[in-house]
Amino acid sequence: MSAARTDGPSRVLVLNSGSSSVKYQLLDMADRSRLATGLVERIGERSARHVHTPADGEPRERERPVADHAEALEAAADELAADGLGLDSPELLAVGHRVVHGGRRFSEPTVVDDSVLAAIERLSPLAPLHNPANLEGIRTARALNPRLPQVAVFDTAFHTTLPEHAARYAIDVATADAHRVRRYGFHGTSHAYVSRRTAALLGRAPDEVNVIVLHLGNGASAAAVAGGRCVDTSMGMTPLEGLVMGTRSGDVDPAVVFHLARNGGMALDDIDRLLNQRSGLAGLCGDNDMREILARRDAGDERARLAFDVYIHRLRRYIGAYYAVLGRVDALVFTAGVGENAAPVRAAAVAGLGSLGLAIDEGLNSARTRGPRLISPEYARVAVAVVPTDEELEIATQTFALVGS
Ligand code: ADP
Repeated sequence: MSAARTDGPSRVLVLNSGSSSVKYQLLDMADRSRLATGLVERIGERSARHVHTPADGEPRERERPVADHAEALEAAADELAADGLGLDSPELLAVGHRVVHGGRRFSEPTVVDDSVLAAIERLSPLAPLHNPANLEGIRTARALNPRLPQVAVFDTAFHTTLPEHAARYAIDVATADAHRVRRYGFHGTSHAYVSRRTAALLGRAPDEVNVIVLHLGNGASAAAVAGGRCVDTSMGMTPLEGLVMGTRSGDVDPAVVFHLARNGGMALDDIDRLLNQRSGLAGLCGDNDMREILARRDAGDERARLAFDVYIHRLRRYIGAYYAVLGRVDALVFTAGVGENAAPVRAAAVAGLGSLGLAIDEGLNSARTRGPRLISPEYARVAVAVVPTDEELEIATQTFALVGS
């Protein structure tokens, strides 16, 4: 990404509009500082919670009904204005929006106009929970200040480099193409940021290094990145495929769906909810938070141990698969809530893989250090790293690079 330029406006408001929440951050790209952050959650429910935190002040929290995304964004704009950071401020350059599904069309951040809005809308059937909420965010921000450029940064964009043999499912080509069935991948903003940051940690150019990125949050995905280009990733047509997640199953035999419909008497919507909301760690042991699972496992809880073991087994499978996909691996990197914080997950994922050049230094792994760091011993052939993700900074960086003066 281009270096920050200081002439002209340099502030970017980053918006992440989810199905029932809006997260926002105001960043100044002149020095990459955060001026304010905020979250409005439980939109549309009886009472919403709005926490707004200015960089140099205490968090301000309010509970009251917020009907929809438009109201949530107006509340955010009011709080920003109270700090002298309103949407009409001349220092504000643009709004950068996280958009989950960009299909095959959007491989780059894109300034939103009516045709882009229509294209994002046409992709909604592929991301029914996400794209409509993202669109709401864009429309509302545009209405609040029509002069400001709105930039869409797509979760799928980093994966548009997937070679055809990795993007294709082995099903009838005509049927697949008619219904846009292929692997798109998600978490791309995070995979892009973390793989680049890992190259910097190794003191090498991104196009020289091959990296396996494990983004382990509530949602989780792995990516194989060769010389800065993504060549494989574990999420597919939707964010359901791949690793075991907080509440999502990840990989299952697709025939499970037929079986549950034909013999289990379940409707398609029930199976959808089962695999997306009642599976993964939560389905296996009733908890989706890795902190709870580790504590229960350490206390001898068998279901928590099973959940942990299934999670780790899947992770190791993908590490092995992406090792083979890349041929040569320079770094294996952990990121997001679990990846950044759960030392036992990192240790178990790599245990016994010395013959692949993978090893972890126990002391480095368990040290409570923040920031990007190596956790492999010096002799290891492959670097193992922890690199905190920062999707908001990446969205702001891409937005600034596109519309900055
Ligand atoms: P999201 O996908 O919602 O952005 P995050 O990347 O914030 O998720 O990760 C959230 C998850 O990270 C939590 O559900 C929890 O399982 C895990 N997590 C956070 N802190 C810790 C910790 N100290 N130890 C283990 N797991 C943690």
